[in-house]
Amino acid sequence: MVKEATLKSQFDAEELAELLEPQEHTSTPPDDPSLKLSLLNYISFMGCSQHAYEAARKNTRQCYPDIELLSYYRVARQARLLSGVITWEHHMCFKGCLGFTGPFADLEQCPDCGQSRYEEKDLEDSDGERKVPRKVFTTFPPGPQIQAKWKHLDTAEDMFYRWKKTEDLRRERGQSDDPLNIYDDILCGKAYLDLVDDGSITEYDTVLMLSIDGAQLHEHKESNCWIYIWILVDIGPDKRYKIRNILPGGIIPGPYAPKDLDSFLFPGLAHVSALQREGLHIWDAYHRRRAISLLYLFLVLADAVAMAQLSGSVGHHGRKGCRLLCGLLGRNKIHGAHYYPALLRPNGFETHRTSSHPDIDINSLPIPTPQGYKTDLFHIISSRTETEYKRRRFNAGIGKPSIFAGMSRILPLPTCFAGDLMHQPVLNLACLLFDLWCARPGARDHNRFTVWPWAVLTGDVWKRHGEFVSRVARYLPTSFGRTPRNPQEKISSGYKAWEFLNYIYGEGPGVFYGVLPDVYYFHFCRLVRAIRIIHQHSISREQLATAHELLLQWVLDFEIIYCDRNPDRLHFVRQCVHSLTHLARETHRLGPLWLSSQWTMERVIGYLGSLLRQPSNPFRNLAAQTKRVAHTNALVAMWPDFERTKGDPHGSEDLGNSYLLLGPKDTSHHQLLPIEREALNIFFSGYPDAEDIDRQTVYRWGRLRIPTEQVARSRWKELERCSDMARTDRNVKVCTESI
Ligand SMILES: [Zn+2]
Ligand SMILES: [Zn+2]
Repeated sequence: MVKEATLKSQFDAEELAELLEPQEHTSTPPDDPSLKLSLLNYISFMGCSQHAYEAARKNTRQCYPDIELLSYYRVARQARLLSGVITWEHHMCFKGCLGFTGPFADLEQCPDCGQSRYEEKDLEDSDGERKVPRKVFTTFPPGPQIQAKWKHLDTAEDMFYRWKKTEDLRRERGQSDDPLNIYDDILCGKAYLDLVDDGSITEYDTVLMLSIDGAQLHEHKESNCWIYIWILVDIGPDKRYKIRNILPGGIIPGPYAPKDLDSFLFPGLAHVSALQREGLHIWDAYHRRRAISLLYLFLVLADAVAMAQLSGSVGHHGRKGCRLLCGLLGRNKIHGAHYYPALLRPNGFETHRTSSHPDIDINSLPIPTPQGYKTDLFHIISSRTETEYKRRRFNAGIGKPSIFAGMSRILPLPTCFAGDLMHQPVLNLACLLFDLWCARPGARDHNRFTVWPWAVLTGDVWKRHGEFVSRVARYLPTSFGRTPRNPQEKISSGYKAWEFLNYIYGEGPGVFYGVLPDVYYFHFCRLVRAIRIIHQHSISREQLATAHELLLQWVLDFEIIYCDRNPDRLHFVRQCVHSLTHLARETHRLGPLWLSSQWTMERVIGYLGSLLRQPSNPFRNLAAQTKRVAHTNALVAMWPDFERTKGDPHGSEDLGNSYLLLGPKDTSHHQLLPIEREALNIFFSGYPDAEDIDRQTVYRWGRLRIPTEQVARSRWKELERCSDMARTDRNVKVCTESI
């Protein structure tokens, strides 16, 4: 049904006309000052209540009686009309089983749990006439949102980043098929460049990634919901992940997890599918011409549970449980239903019914291929009996066709399903390492009576280590973001992915030195080195090869030094361990993987959560706020003047070359000490033009913003705020010839 979707069936006549014939756009904001001010307030008051908007409106009228600002209702309507952004609401099962879309569109009861689609009291009172849905989910079709991105010269230029960069890369590659020397964007990946080479993606196409994740809006599970977004690969990575450039896709209310995720994605995917065949009409303000853009769905990003639903795989417990569907055969414990991607055959498994296969060579691991996937899927759907289906599902690792098979322009399945750099090497692997180092009961399982040499984070050692980590936090630069809290106290209660990243891969080699036994410490450091390379913004071909070698060695050594072919330790080898073997190849295929990870989704969830005002009805509120974000994003794309980035801070001084002095500053000049004068003289000796500069007195500044946007702080002001908790980072890189 996704395949046959048409735009005509999705929009009313007026909306369709707007979609098919985008008008030339005037780049100056609306002349009418009251409309302009109303819209500016609508945008600036994001995250505030409607009440705050109305209060500002009344205040304005009191001081300027001639200016009649629009009511909140009217300004929201104007924002919708001017931006062209459309919102759809579809009914869903009250228990969250499915959305009444596609094949379920005409049902009045949920086929899964039997819950009524409509409020029964209303039905009864009106003799079945009044049909009030019990629950709805919201979809934001991306077509009109993408059109808005082309309407202003500046944003249209941003949209052209992809093609400009593509031409540069093609020039660099020339005729050769060799990999590039530097990977610094998704566009550097082989997958994208191959699509350009074979003509599948051209200048005006829109290249999208779909990202979906579950979110908990408040502390309670009742506020669980699912959100998906579209990310535009066409915009450069410096702007691509900013909230203003993210296209909201849909909000699926919880608290019950969606059982049939496909039915909730159906409206959005059917819309994209129609645009893939019919094309999206755009007014290109950069070249001042009309054009047709064909949408290309490049990647699907999700956490492991959602990914299994979307790809139709059996999930990470299965015998072939790799989320990239590479086909690696797992092993299960005797009588265990859960499979683990262990390369080495445990002792005594020679006659194991399902896991007796010999050791797997880490240098010849299987890789996912569209052909293998197609063959497996054909086998599954041609099963004649239930038993045959189950047997084939067990062997293939997939259980049903994916909804994405209906898309005409998508990376061939299963290569469109990406891994995730946030969940796998950061959250999941951290969980595994601490299960082992802290000897948590879950990891102990049947292996509880042996001594684990690596299980050192217990008792006093763990307590001291935790305190040490929380003390180290103050020496991390603020640009590193959230610092790790005391892991001994907080690791089990909502320790964030970013904290794990800073803790394990940032501080790790320092804080675990002397804590982990040498063999485990050096093994760990190899992982840190590789993961740091994989997380770089720009990765050279040589670095990638190094990371690949280190990661393969780490995975193999992990099985040797932690598992030791002990069948009771098979459960140490989780999918997150195996996922490391894919990282370097995936980087070669898709560019640096943080650009296609769930970090963006995590930020979007945090942002949308921060806008919520009514904890009593979080889902309705979330849908309303997301709608406002979609309107605002489109309006700001069409008229960037509505939200120009703020100028330099008051009292700052631009030094050129992206250096900016920031306050506070001395109010009167400061007399230098002789030793300071001498330092200044030595510094200026390399600058003959600096003769006239006063070397006796200076004005001191508190802070300096450097080209990386990081802020360096001067000792002068830092000494004044030296409380215990203040972050007094002084990171100095010392380079000497001897090191
Ligand atoms: Zn149901
Ligand atoms: Zn795999």
